[in-house]
Amino acid sequence: MEQKNRLVVLGGGESGVGAAILGKTLGMEVFLSDYGKVSPRYASMLDEEGIEWEQGGHTMERILAADEIVKSPGIAPTTPVMKAVAEKGIPVISEIEFAGRYTDAKMVCITGSNGKTTTTMLTYHILQRAGLNVGLAGNVGRSLALQVAREPHDVYVIELSSFQLENMYRFKANIAVLLNITPDHLDRYDYKMQNYVNAKFRILNNQTLADAFIYWHDDPVIAEQLKHFTPSARLYPFAEEPGDGIAAYVDPEGEIIFDTSETQLKMPVAQLSLNGLHNIYNSMAAGLSACLLDIRKEDIRSALADFEGVEHRLEPAGSVDGVNYINDSKATNVNSCWYALESMTTPTVLILGGKDKGNDYSEILPLVQQKVKAIVAMGVDNSKIVDYFGDKVDAIASTGSLEDALNAARSFAVPGDTVLLSPCCASFDLFSSYEDRGRQFKAAVAGLAKK
Ligand code: ADP
Repeated sequence: MEQKNRLVVLGGGESGVGAAILGKTLGMEVFLSDYGKVSPRYASMLDEEGIEWEQGGHTMERILAADEIVKSPGIAPTTPVMKAVAEKGIPVISEIEFAGRYTDAKMVCITGSNGKTTTTMLTYHILQRAGLNVGLAGNVGRSLALQVAREPHDVYVIELSSFQLENMYRFKANIAVLLNITPDHLDRYDYKMQNYVNAKFRILNNQTLADAFIYWHDDPVIAEQLKHFTPSARLYPFAEEPGDGIAAYVDPEGEIIFDTSETQLKMPVAQLSLNGLHNIYNSMAAGLSACLLDIRKEDIRSALADFEGVEHRLEPAGSVDGVNYINDSKATNVNSCWYALESMTTPTVLILGGKDKGNDYSEILPLVQQKVKAIVAMGVDNSKIVDYFGDKVDAIASTGSLEDALNAARSFAVPGDTVLLSPCCASFDLFSSYEDRGRQFKAAVAGLAKK
């Protein structure tokens, strides 16, 4: 077979630069092209390796001369460059697919609409605690390709978004975790839920009976899909309650029972370091993965009990005048806000708003009516939130900046209450990213504490 040697990488972020370096290490002729700007850190990494690259546009002749293209997950298939590539029939793969060819490591892959990062970090924490030579990759940590090129590990824990899964073909997850599926990113899927579901189910591609599929048993979308499709892997569903074939559940005494055929493990829910029902599920998924990797029970228990959590996910942001502030800036869709509200134990002032991805707020209405005393909308255009919640909560404020939103939240809250930033929306109207939104929120709360 003719050696495929000309590799073009589209996108100069973490995954693209990693893929380019791996390609170069393998002796390929590599060219990286980014339509936007490549950050100075990545630019110098490319220069150090002597990799040719460009930014601020695409040189189409060079791109269309590729034998194969590694595409950053952020580039939509509808962009002019991808249309031209498709017309020419050049194979397009993801960085994970590319890197996966050059390692025999065990792959624990985690996807879902919500909870991916938390579960990935938690799984990584358990495996590290147990002394495994483990790498963290995908949407978090360094790219898989860079690790394969420079510091190979025996096991990788990989967070996979649906965008990454789209361009994966031969890659195989030894352990695939599917946490849940709720509408998200539908703009990228022709507004067809089934397309998004299909992308998520690609995590099962190429699995055999030697592999494992861990999933949330009670997710209606997953359950519906499993009526039409039988995975080849062994199944490890987790659920809140015991049931036939359920591999992890909570028993009536409040203990999580992990039950794979090889391992039985018990742990009181109260000992989990992360709170909220969603985190019981995330802990079940991470714990099951660890059981399947034969991690010692003691290591699993202690790691589930001392995990510190991930920034911007129900992160305590301080207490001012007896009011608790919580940064859940990563809640960029309605479902994750549902779980945040579910875990609230005091009257709550909810700050939401930003760039709406087609939200249906009826999903959180019962919890809002039960727990939320006031809503503060924070965004450039708050009309949808104000129209929907205006006559359904006792108090509502519409604000156009973080400062105004916090002032409004403060005026609604009394000692003992919680102010929860769980926006249901992307951040790009007022902030550069959800991290920026979360950090500004924490800094502003710290500023209030000093006043
Ligand atoms: P992702 O990486 O999938 O975006 P994160 O772990 O970053 O998920 O969590 C994002 C938000 O989603 C959290 O702030 C939390 O409110 C919510 N969340 C976390 N785990 C779950 C889950 N298993 N089910 C539903 N919502 C969750």
